[in-house]
Amino acid sequence: MKTLGLIGGMSWESTAIYYRLLNEGARDRLGGLASAEILLWSFDFRGIAERQAAGDWAGLGRMMVEAGRRLEAGGAAALVICTNTMHKLAPEVEAGVGIPLVHIADATAAAILATPCRRPALLATRYTMEQDFYRGRLADRHGIACVVPDEADRALVHRVIYEELCRGIVKPESKAAYLEVVGRLRRAGADGVIFGCTEVGMILQQADLDVPAFDTTAIHAAAALDVALAG
Ligand code: GLU
Repeated sequence: MKTLGLIGGMSWESTAIYYRLLNEGARDRLGGLASAEILLWSFDFRGIAERQAAGDWAGLGRMMVEAGRRLEAGGAAALVICTNTMHKLAPEVEAGVGIPLVHIADATAAAILATPCRRPALLATRYTMEQDFYRGRLADRHGIACVVPDEADRALVHRVIYEELCRGIVKPESKAAYLEVVGRLRRAGADGVIFGCTEVGMILQQADLDVPAFDTTAIHAAAALDVALAG
């Protein structure tokens, strides 16, 4: 088994889910007492979220490369960035670190393309919903055009991620609000829902939806295990 290097803490709520899923997946695939070999760099999310809000992506890029290099030096064979948003900096990490990156958008695209869904809704941070690094990759590399919430709904989805889910708060009224957003996106033609933030699975599940859900946390963890166990 290869050692996975996780860049996490963004937020730790979802990194804890990754940790559980990777270990459960290793046990399911290998049996017995098997668990995943993991190195974790876990950021203090305060400084990350502040730099995101200030638009200091250059500074964040330097921090991400530094974290990746630490994991590489520690013996990791592949990198897993445990957030969709910070894949904005995947090109910097890939250029600055010598081990491969398991890209969350590529893993998610493969999961979508294995179903009939071709117009998935995207629930994510503003950065992921509004910028090109994620939607563009799904469209250009994989031919998947996402349905994105309107401005008011993007504000709502983003606020719940940072003010609630990343703080471990899961409110029934926010779940109801998310389901209303999904209803509007369904009426706009969405035939699936990407949980495009690694905390969204804390508040929505497949059982809440009448179309396929693509939980990027679970999909990404499974793809990382494929890499760890290959060969
Ligand atoms: N975990 C979230 C994501 O998947 C948001 C937190 C962050 O900005 O990294 O995008």
